Amino acid sequence: MPCKMDEKLEPIYQEVLRRNPGETEFHQAVREVLECLGPVLVKRPEFAEQKIIQRICEPERQIIFRVPWQDDRGEVQINRGFRVEFNSALGPYKGGLRFHPSVYLGIIKFLGFEQIFKNSLTGLPIGGAKGGSDFDPKGRSAGEVMRFCQSFMTELYRHLGEHTDVPAGDTGVGARELGFMFGQYKRITNRYESGVLTGKGLDWGGSLVRKEATGYGTVFFVAEMLRARGDSLEGKTCVVSGSGNVAIYSIEKATELGGRVVACSDSNGYVYDEHGIRLDVLRQLKEVERRRIREYADLVKTARYVEDGNIWTVPCKVALPSATQNEINGRDARTLIGNGCIAVGEGANMPTTPDGVRAFLDAGVAFGPGKAANAGGVATSALEMQQNASRDSWSFEYTEKRLHEIMRNIHDLCHQTAEEYGTPGNYVNGANIAGFIKVASAMAAMGLI
Ligand code: GLU
Repeated sequence: MPCKMDEKLEPIYQEVLRRNPGETEFHQAVREVLECLGPVLVKRPEFAEQKIIQRICEPERQIIFRVPWQDDRGEVQINRGFRVEFNSALGPYKGGLRFHPSVYLGIIKFLGFEQIFKNSLTGLPIGGAKGGSDFDPKGRSAGEVMRFCQSFMTELYRHLGEHTDVPAGDTGVGARELGFMFGQYKRITNRYESGVLTGKGLDWGGSLVRKEATGYGTVFFVAEMLRARGDSLEGKTCVVSGSGNVAIYSIEKATELGGRVVACSDSNGYVYDEHGIRLDVLRQLKEVERRRIREYADLVKTARYVEDGNIWTVPCKVALPSATQNEINGRDARTLIGNGCIAVGEGANMPTTPDGVRAFLDAGVAFGPGKAANAGGVATSALEMQQNASRDSWSFEYTEKRLHEIMRNIHDLCHQTAEEYGTPGNYVNGANIAGFIKVASAMAAMGLI
C-alpha cells in the first residue's frame, strides 16, 4: 500500500501547489515522494527542523531562454529552452534534455525532481537536473535539427561544465543532437571538455553501453524483483511500450534473458507479433531510417499493426512502459492485472498514474518505479564521466558488468529500505525513502544551502 500523506507534510505539499500553479506533472512527482516520507521524519527529526523537504522541492536554479533558429525555407522559428538545476548536494547537476512539443516548465520540473532521487539511488556522485525545449524534431531535416541545437547551446553553454552541469539525452535527443550541441559548446568555449555532456558518440568520448543502458538496466531490475520472489524472466510474455532507445534495448535484454516480447508501439499505434518482435527489423526502422512503427507490419508478415490501439490490452506477464509519463492509468493497470501481469518495470519516467501505481501495489504486482528501474541510463552516464575524467575507455563487457552491479545494488537498497520501513515488497516506498535519505543527509551536512 502506498502511504498516506503525513500531516506534517501536507502543508509542505500545499505550499508546493501554491508556488507552482498549473504544473500538474510536477505536483504529481512531488506528491508521490512526500507520501513516502512521513516515517522518515519520525526517525530523523533533524530533517524537519532544517526544512530539508521544503528546500528539496525548490530548484536551486531555473533557466528559461529563447531559442531562435531558421528552418529550411528561411523562415524564423522561435522555441523556448529550459534547464532546471534542481539539486547539487551529491554532485554536479546531471540529467537529460528532452525535445518534444509537450515540454513546458512543469514537465522539466517533474523530470528534474525525479532525477534527484534517481541519481542518488545510483550511489554515484551526481546531482539532479533536467532540461529541454518545446521544439518538435518530428519531420525536421538534419540541417534544421542542427541549427536548432546550435542555437540552444549558444545560450545554454554558459551554465554548463564538467563540474557544474552535465546534460545528456532524453526523448527526442540522442547522439546526433548531442553531437551538434557538443560541437557548438567546443566552438564557443574553445575547450574539448568531454565530460560536459554524456551519451556522446563512440568516436568522440562516448561510452560503450550508454545507448543500451536504460533498457538493459530496466530489465536487470525486473529480473532482480522476480529473483527476489523465486522467479525469472524465462518463458514470460512481455509487452514494451514505445519504440525509442529505452524500448529497443529493453526488448533486446528481455529476449536475451528468456522473455518473449510480443508488442511495442509509438504515439500512433502498436504492433503485435506472438512470435516475438524482431530486433534487427525494429532497429533498422527506428534507429537508421527514423520511420513509424506502422511500417514494421509491412516488413514482418506475422505482425499486426493496431492503429490508435491501447497496448496495455495485450495480455502479458511483464509490462515495461518505456514511452512517456502517465501512459498507464488505473484502468490500464487493472486490465494488465486481470490478464495475469505479475511484474512492471518503468523504463520511462513516471509512466504510471498514481491510480495505476495503487492498483499494482494492491494486487501484489512486483512494481519497479522509474526512479529505481530506469536509473541504468544515468548511472552509465556517470560511468562515461568517469572514463572521460581518466581519459580512458572501457570494454563493452566491463561496462555492462558495472551497470549490472549498480542495478542489483539499487534493487537491494530499495528492497531493504522497504522492509526496514515496514512495507516489504513496496519498491515505491523503498526508492523514495532511500533516494531521499542520502540527499537529505548531504544537505544537512552542508549547512544552509
Ligand atoms: N534522461 C535520462 C534519465 O531520465 C538520462 C539522463 C542522463 O544520462 O543524464 O535518467
